[in-house]
Amino acid sequence: MTVRVWDYLPEYADEREDLLDAVDTVFSSGRLVFGPAVEAFEAEFAAWHGLPHATGVDNGTNAIVLGLRALGVGPGDEVITVSNTAAPTVVAIDQIGAVPVFVDVRADDQLMDTDLLEAAVTSRTRAIVPVHLYGQCVDMAAVQAVASRHGLRVLEDCAQAHAARHHGRLAGTMGDAAAFSFYPTKILGAYGDGGAVVTAEPDVDADLRRLRYYGMAQQYYVVQTPGHNARLDAVQAEILRRKLRRLDDYVAARRAIAGRYAEGLGDVDGLTLPPVTPGNEHSYYLYVARHPEREELLEGLRAHGIELTVSYRWPVHTMSGFAHLGLGPGSLPVTERLAGEILSLPMYSSLDKGTQDDVVAAVRTVLGAP
Ligand SMILES: *Cc1c(COP(=O)(O)O)cnc(C)c1O
Repeated sequence: MTVRVWDYLPEYADEREDLLDAVDTVFSSGRLVFGPAVEAFEAEFAAWHGLPHATGVDNGTNAIVLGLRALGVGPGDEVITVSNTAAPTVVAIDQIGAVPVFVDVRADDQLMDTDLLEAAVTSRTRAIVPVHLYGQCVDMAAVQAVASRHGLRVLEDCAQAHAARHHGRLAGTMGDAAAFSFYPTKILGAYGDGGAVVTAEPDVDADLRRLRYYGMAQQYYVVQTPGHNARLDAVQAEILRRKLRRLDDYVAARRAIAGRYAEGLGDVDGLTLPPVTPGNEHSYYLYVARHPEREELLEGLRAHGIELTVSYRWPVHTMSGFAHLGLGPGSLPVTERLAGEILSLPMYSSLDKGTQDDVVAAVRTVLGAP
């Protein structure tokens, strides 16, 4: 048997009846596009965050594309973000013709180094996209300080941070808008693709609703600004409604798993476990440890049937598709160094204790810990 970083089948076994009922509810409703499931999920997701608006979209990448567009970002504008992220953060910026500008990350928690923001701002900067990586939040007070000094918009990339908190506030409630992904591996995952943008601003939300629907106001069927087809699927919306009710449980399970890793591996020489930065409540989308001999560790674990992954092995600025940005090796030294040391241990809410114990034992054996 192979142990993987993520699996949904144990969850499906537990929730199968509810999920199949969700599918049947939509199929029987007579509304396959938009309709009551999408509306209800949007209302419930907004309320869960204590916000007035959530717009469902087809995936997290388009949540960033449309979120930025609704915040007024367009071609030629510079958007400051990090290279230590899932490529879609940057692909989305590129998609609207904006220019991604990277700041390096902090060595300890691997999050945006907000001390570098000020120097990255130019006359063309329009927005900042802080990425709440792995399930913990960027220092948002520092982001907001720079944003308000320069009149910039802030779109939180919350694809990995459902239910994370920062000084008591939920991820997604601290920027001008926030983009979520419901890709199956995410903390709140659909059984397919999905995404949402939340905001407190009614105008931004109204723009989002048009942008995801070709650019049309639904009641008039007239395109104002040409948009996208980026609707959240009704079946996924109904599944997400069911799962949203269990989100607190999923996160509690993830935190318990993180606690068990810390207990089982905290004393292993050379292995650095993910820190929780003061003020943050981590929601553990990924459990990213570090080791200087990462490749040997991965290889050794593979021999024990444990297939781990690296998120992310290639910082976005080093990818050939972004060569035109002209950022050679050495331009983001902390990001580049971390990419060579990080590895993700299995993390999903239905990961059972036995499997987790096997992982702990194998890591200890491979690293020669008593
Ligand atoms: C998953 C992810 C996205 C993209 O979401 P999709 O639903 O896969 O399009 C964007 N940003 C980050 C940080 C992600 O982890």
